[in-house]
Amino acid sequence: MKSDLIVLGGGPAGGNAALAAAAAGLSVVLFDEQPAAGGQVWRAPWAGKADPHDSPERREGDALRDALASSPVDLRFGRRVWSVGRAFRVDALGPDGNEWVEAPRLIAATGAHERVVPFPGWTLPGVIGLAAATVLLKSHAARPAGPVVVAGCGPLLAAVAAGILKAGGDVAAVVDLASARDWLVAVPHLASRPSLLAQGLGWTLKIAGRGVPVLFRHAVRRVEGAERAERVVIAPVDETGAFTGGSERSFEIGSLVVGHGLVPGGEVPRLFRAKTRFDRLRGGHVPELDADGRTSIAGLYAAGDGVGIKGAAAAVLNGTLAGLAAARDAGRLSESEWRKRAEPARTAAAGLAPFSDAIAGLMALRAGQVASVPAETVVCRCEDVTRGEIEAAAVAGATEVNQLKHFTRCGMGPCQGRMCGETAAEILARSLGVEREAVGQWTARPPLRPVPLADLLGRFDYSDIPIPKPAPL
Ligand SMILES: Cc1cc2nc3c(=O)[nH]c(=O)nc-3n(C[C@H](O)[C@H](O)[C@H](O)COP(=O)(O)OP(=O)(O)OC[C@H]3O[C@@H](n4cnc5c(N)ncnc54)[C@H](O)[C@@H]3O)c2cc1C
Repeated sequence: MKSDLIVLGGGPAGGNAALAAAAAGLSVVLFDEQPAAGGQVWRAPWAGKADPHDSPERREGDALRDALASSPVDLRFGRRVWSVGRAFRVDALGPDGNEWVEAPRLIAATGAHERVVPFPGWTLPGVIGLAAATVLLKSHAARPAGPVVVAGCGPLLAAVAAGILKAGGDVAAVVDLASARDWLVAVPHLASRPSLLAQGLGWTLKIAGRGVPVLFRHAVRRVEGAERAERVVIAPVDETGAFTGGSERSFEIGSLVVGHGLVPGGEVPRLFRAKTRFDRLRGGHVPELDADGRTSIAGLYAAGDGVGIKGAAAAVLNGTLAGLAAARDAGRLSESEWRKRAEPARTAAAGLAPFSDAIAGLMALRAGQVASVPAETVVCRCEDVTRGEIEAAAVAGATEVNQLKHFTRCGMGPCQGRMCGETAAEILARSLGVEREAVGQWTARPPLRPVPLADLLGRFDYSDIPIPKPAPL
């Protein structure tokens, strides 16, 4: 099937990109592996799991889902995109097997994934990601087993702790890498989005109202337990995130929820070898874009957290701009009409910059965090590669992340480095005594997401495979 435009991702960025392009007259196909639009932040509850609590995110998500449902966009939810080929042929696995669409233009709005800087015990059952916990709370109306310690950095800490309390859970402590002063410095910038600041204050009051201790400038030292997480040990850190040697505290836990910010998921621009640059504030490598989301590859646009962590409000605006740019490039919008539609989004995006910078700053990786990972701790959990093995690979001659892959298999498992990639790259750079940029970025290749081969090839019996006759000697 052919279309004018394919949008990958039905979150705030992709959903709004599709709406803007369709309103300008393009035929648009939108793919997302989720069952409904909303992405990570505005995710819909799964069938039969309706979260009874109203929330601003729920309302924003419902508005996007309604707008898409009444638009001409061809919505392909429940489809896992595993390949994006030349001429923007997109292959996706859905309920009826593989399906493909081709278009002269494609907008990648595939969002971010979360970063957890490893510590001893981080792979034990009962340790779950901070961003992953939002999925439990929003889509499944489930909460982590208590008592829960919520640890890491950024605004999701308070959001998740308050969400667990609201769902009737027991939060033993909130452990924040940032200091109270870091937050006070951020507040004036966060005030540029008063509704979000008010939401954050609401979470803080809920946590304080339940008497939950908030330990600033602390981090998880280790998790102890035989079969699963039973106890978490935390300790004070300095402003770089390195442990200071101050006294440890421990909490008995049912779960540890922990996350250290987000990493842009730029697989599609990387697949096409679009120009990128390393941006520590924005979470890692980001594609180089013009003001409307065009990458260095003709016809390929990108928007949302996949092009650098800026949050949902910025994703809406960048998505809209990318959708309008695609329509303009396809000749469906005159210069004046494009200007009329794009100008409000551009102005609003510029106004959001202080807010976006402040939240990205609170989630950015600090140098001392990675320095604190013990040598025997597993970094790549898919392939069981430790920090010590990464350092040994550096000594043996690996000078760049894809060589690290060849030396150790780090980043070669089912998650394809989404979980460990940035930490492993930082460790390699530190071992070599170079800047993070110098060790490069992981190459992307299909399958972009793990897919069962049987679903692509159909069922077959080995005895049905014709065996060629042996060649004569
Ligand atoms: C797990 C997680 C939870 C988060 N929770 C919150 C939160 O509660 N509050 C908050 O403010 N911010 C949250 N964030 C940050 C939030 O994602 C962003 O600020 C915002 O959602 C960015 O919008 P986006 O449209 O760029 O990306 P997203 O909202 O992430 O949307 C991207 C979409 O692309 C789809 N997609 C990606 N790859 C494929 C593929 N190969 N095939 C098919 N579909 C694909 C995904 O299913 C997703 O729906 C979370 C981030 C993560 C990673």
